[in-house]
Amino acid sequence: MQPLRPTLGKLLANTFITKVHQRSGSSAAAKLGVHPQQRRVAVSRARLQRHLELTWLQGSSSSFPLTWLRDNCQCPKCFHPDSKSRTVDWATCDITIKPKEVQVSDDGKTVIVDWLDAHSSRYSAEWLHSRRFEEDARKKWLSTYKQEKEIWQSAEETEFPRKRFSFEGVMSDDGQLLQWMLELERFGVAVLEGAGCDDERTVRKLADRVAFIRRTHYGEEFSVKSKMEPSNVAYTGQALQLHTDLPYYEYKPGVNMLHCLVQAEGEGGENQLVDSLRVAGQLKQSHPEFYKALSTIPVDWTDEGVEEGRPFRSLYRAPVICEDSTGKVFRVNYSQPQRDSHFSVPVEQVETWYLALKQFTQLMLRADNRVEYKVKPGEILSFDNLRICHGRSGYTPAVNQIYERHIVGAYLDWDEIRCRIRVLSQREQ
Ligand SMILES: [Zn+2]
Repeated sequence: MQPLRPTLGKLLANTFITKVHQRSGSSAAAKLGVHPQQRRVAVSRARLQRHLELTWLQGSSSSFPLTWLRDNCQCPKCFHPDSKSRTVDWATCDITIKPKEVQVSDDGKTVIVDWLDAHSSRYSAEWLHSRRFEEDARKKWLSTYKQEKEIWQSAEETEFPRKRFSFEGVMSDDGQLLQWMLELERFGVAVLEGAGCDDERTVRKLADRVAFIRRTHYGEEFSVKSKMEPSNVAYTGQALQLHTDLPYYEYKPGVNMLHCLVQAEGEGGENQLVDSLRVAGQLKQSHPEFYKALSTIPVDWTDEGVEEGRPFRSLYRAPVICEDSTGKVFRVNYSQPQRDSHFSVPVEQVETWYLALKQFTQLMLRADNRVEYKVKPGEILSFDNLRICHGRSGYTPAVNQIYERHIVGAYLDWDEIRCRIRVLSQREQ
């Protein structure tokens, strides 16, 4: 590659350079078997103004801030290629440094920036192209961050479960594993079938297939069946009100997997599921002041007890509806048993908050917002614990052990699932 040398040796801060795309570059790339997409990414013109302005071969242009370019210099002094990590020393780096000149290689595939402190940076056109600051490029990048969530239709219109996955398929085929995780992220719920009824370690195997199980103070796998001295109301045959699990964790486990080994005979034991994003949206429309109360007033979420001889006392403060900086709901905390009687907010907020919670609950219980599904033996019900409120209708624990309802659960974290989604999606391209 022959860099095109500029004819001017000095930089005028608002001019510059350069041509050039040589058509011969494309044919050379074709001979080397370069992917057609990569072949198209080339720079035809570079100019230094307030930003570095690049014109792409196909005619559009992009701006790159100079400080960003220097911060992301790809030379061995500034970037360690094996660890893919920036090593620019931020303590000594002059972020006001200006380029002396910019050049584009003959084939348009490399942009070279020479800085006034004699440092030289080279960037591939493809690398720059995928890091454009224009909205379309940012959207493409953000699609690798999180999937867009699909808010449920009314319960009658929502096919449930929308998708079933083969446990064996997910365990043995990366494509099926990816599809299951994508469905969990978009729709919030997915059922796996064919998981058998006799292995209590099945959910662990599934968690290990993604990454690793998320441990809580209840352990790793947890068994949900009636216990003599329960540390949690889930361990009884009583109905469980709609809730999200573990709201008292700052790092709340992201996905709940419930493997049914034995289901309650006859009436009872159905799982109830509600898309809290749908309900939060309804509340915002019908009662904006209640929505504001539930999304701003912090609640003291708590859990206290002893498990396996180990005492625990968890506490986390957060609103019921948690919005991110863009106003999108990213987490819902909702659990009647796990809300502390300490409510450490100014007294005048309390009554409003109760009215708001009541309204939210009534919306959640509305028939068109609630789906019922009685998970069958051999199935794993998996759902987003930051989004889906779940409950269980009451059942009578059988005296005969053989007929006892028995569910084994485990958690996964979204960080690990999203990481696996990215790795598998990249491989599929
Ligand atoms: Zn460098």
